[in-house]
Amino acid sequence: QPDFSNPELFTPSMRQFVEVKNRYPKTLVLFRMGDFYETFFDDAVRANRLIGITLTKRGKLTDGTPIPMAGIPFVSLDTYIAKLVKLGESVVIVEQMGTPGKGMIERKVSRIVTPGTLTETTLLPEKSDSTLLAIDWPRKKSDPYGFVWLTLSNGDFRAEEVSAEAFASVISRIHPSEVLVAESRRQALREAHPELVVSSLPNWHFDGRRGQEMLCSTFGLANLDAWGVSGKTTILAAANALLDYTAETQVDLMPFIEPLKLVKESEFVVLDPSTRRNLEIDQSLSPLGDGPTLFSVLDHCATAMGSRELRRWLNQPVRDRQTAQIRQEAIESILSTGSLLENLRTGLNTLPDVERISSRIALGTVRPRELASLRDALPRIQSLEKWLSAQPLRFFAALGESLRLPAMIEELLAKALLPEPAVLLRDGDVIASSYSPELAELRHFRDDTSRILLEMEERERAATKLQTLRVQYNKVSGFYIEVSKTAADRVPVRYQRKQTLKNSERFITPELKELEDRILSARERAQTLEKALYDELVAKLGERAAELLAAAKAIAELDAVTGLAEHAEAHRWVRPVLTDHPGIRIEKGRHPVVETTLENFVPNSCRLEDGRRMLIITGPNMGGKSTYMRSVALIVLLAWAGSFVPAETAEIGPVDRIHTRIGASDDLARGRSTFMVEMTEAAAILSQATDKSLVLMDEIGRGTSTFDGLSLAAAIAQELVQKTRSFTLFATHYFELTTLAQELREVANVHVSASQTRSGIVFMHEISEGAASKSYGIAVAQLAGIPAHVVRRAKSFLAKLEERANTVDSPLPNLFGESLLMPPEPEEEAGEQPSEAEADPAMLALIERIGSADIDSLTPRDALRLLYELQNEA
Ligand code: ADP
Repeated sequence: QPDFSNPELFTPSMRQFVEVKNRYPKTLVLFRMGDFYETFFDDAVRANRLIGITLTKRGKLTDGTPIPMAGIPFVSLDTYIAKLVKLGESVVIVEQMGTPGKGMIERKVSRIVTPGTLTETTLLPEKSDSTLLAIDWPRKKSDPYGFVWLTLSNGDFRAEEVSAEAFASVISRIHPSEVLVAESRRQALREAHPELVVSSLPNWHFDGRRGQEMLCSTFGLANLDAWGVSGKTTILAAANALLDYTAETQVDLMPFIEPLKLVKESEFVVLDPSTRRNLEIDQSLSPLGDGPTLFSVLDHCATAMGSRELRRWLNQPVRDRQTAQIRQEAIESILSTGSLLENLRTGLNTLPDVERISSRIALGTVRPRELASLRDALPRIQSLEKWLSAQPLRFFAALGESLRLPAMIEELLAKALLPEPAVLLRDGDVIASSYSPELAELRHFRDDTSRILLEMEERERAATKLQTLRVQYNKVSGFYIEVSKTAADRVPVRYQRKQTLKNSERFITPELKELEDRILSARERAQTLEKALYDELVAKLGERAAELLAAAKAIAELDAVTGLAEHAEAHRWVRPVLTDHPGIRIEKGRHPVVETTLENFVPNSCRLEDGRRMLIITGPNMGGKSTYMRSVALIVLLAWAGSFVPAETAEIGPVDRIHTRIGASDDLARGRSTFMVEMTEAAAILSQATDKSLVLMDEIGRGTSTFDGLSLAAAIAQELVQKTRSFTLFATHYFELTTLAQELREVANVHVSASQTRSGIVFMHEISEGAASKSYGIAVAQLAGIPAHVVRRAKSFLAKLEERANTVDSPLPNLFGESLLMPPEPEEEAGEQPSEAEADPAMLALIERIGSADIDSLTPRDALRLLYELQNEA
């Protein structure tokens, strides 16, 4: 990389580039030169590495060093930008302003594309939002962080004060495409959250006082009291940086931004990042990430707007009962009215992305075809509106109101736009000729040249009586009147000689000269006029951006409930009862995703309430424990997202958070061992869960030695029951934990059943009350293809271990003695514990004999004899 601060090093033509590069040292600069966008120096090397464009050299520095360069043909700009943005890169685009060939071409930064500030339909993911989040750090540790985020493609603008504890879970809820922080915080955030795309601005942009002024002036407010953010310094500072950054990336364009909405974490059911992952809400845990997710199976939306809305609902289950119930009521009403679902489907089908079109109207960057698709959709939106407004349900009527758009929008579009406008404005033929007489005339001169010339020819022939006279045009000579040599002396005096050929003479007249000027300039003037008319049209529509976006939002909501209704009908889901009463009661619940992939999903019930706050789940691996726990969590999540649920009945009380500690999430990227991750997550749960939280613990403690793991699992379970008092599903392979139920009133045992048959183990996937009777571990190993002799040996080891446990003074059975637990409830008798020491000694002898038999060396006859003996003894 050369020294950009030394202008001497560069030829005059490179200095333009250097000037831009000095302003954006860290961002890839695409510099328009003729038919290419070029990158230079390190940018070229980076572009070559990232998107594989060919690295060459062009020209030299004044000291003779060749300049590395890599270019993109200008027609493929969007394709390459899309690739770069996907990789989390930002791009500065420098355009040529003047016409080439007239001295030094003027160039200007026209746009800065960053992952969080996209508005181009072609660059945005269709079914998810692209959001920019700005974070300001508190001056004092105990103060909250300021989070402010903006989705440019719909103007959604929000703020939240976030505690250090909630930092990660709020980021995962917002799921930003780009996070903006002060320069001094960039490195630390990148290290703590390698999954984020982090951009930065100099620290001074994070200034609360400037933020206050900026918000007031942008939104024309005297103060910010109505928004509830006055004095919230970190929010104001983040808002200032966010608006500065947005203005810079959009260059001269002003996007539509909604008034700032202050949200609180307590509005939502809190899901920490690992819970979001584990529940596979919209990202699959499958190795390629392409497996089904809650969102993917539920997304029957007809429009991209609806899909995005549904994704928001699933990612942000609410805690306000009414919000969830309004959606459920709508689903119920759709399902109970015949043919309604079908009508809504047809009404919504083929509606364009009104949301993104509207945001681009506000920004002034909307394309002609996008406007045409909006125009064509308006009648369909109107009939949806009529229908909705006639519905008794308040939810539908309110949506209908949002769809009532000002008539001026439709009129304007119908009048101004050609039925099928060109793709690009610069291709012409976008505005209807009938919209502007001036445009009509220019187009006439541009398009009807031969007819105009023929008309003139007729007039001139009549006036001169010269039948061979012709009015013509060619590129070299321009416009002329041609007369044969013999007739040349009979032309009128207004004919001026222009050119003499072998057989003819060519003339020009003042009238023809004027016509020539008009025709030749018509194309350019038509283009200029059309652009002006188009900009004016878009500006007029832009005044209605708020209404258009509100209509888009209504369509999205309608589409989302319609999609949920469709799924509910197809899979026999029911409306959950949301109560004030703490607890979860599910009859015959199913896993919303697994049930779509399995033919015979076995439904299971779940009851968690005061007096029964923890279920210890035991049973063989592969028995269905994880599936059961996840289905309970997903039913709770769906209920509070406003959906129906896969169950026969469900009654769900208030839930403030869902925590999961499931599986071995490998966090090797951050260099933490599985066990460390497990304990970190468990620690977070113990500190954050409350008596309104739902906690799933799957096989806690498996990452360490048996006694360590068992002791930790026991202590954690005890804490969850007695201190946090959360509703907990606790799956464990430590059979010893089942005795907890005798010690603690809030704990109950359930198990997944399996039966051992001659051909191996059969899973019933059925949850029943009580502890499992056997662990079946060895049977599962056999099923998994562990060689027969290894399985046999394992069985004999097991028998020996069990025997030892029953005779030697083993620590396991006494694990839940008084020293470890709070005093047991008075009604329970410690002596009731079934002690394995009471196992039948004859039985043990039998097992011992089977275990020690060397089956591999037995002849079939010996084996048969052994079997007879055993049968006799049994
Ligand atoms: P565990 O956690 O006990 O090891 P999983 O929950 O992972 O078991 O379930 C193992 C497999 O059993 C799943 O992949 C699924 O195919 C099947 N399964 C689980 N629950 C059910 C059910 N209720 N009905 C039918 N099949 C089920």
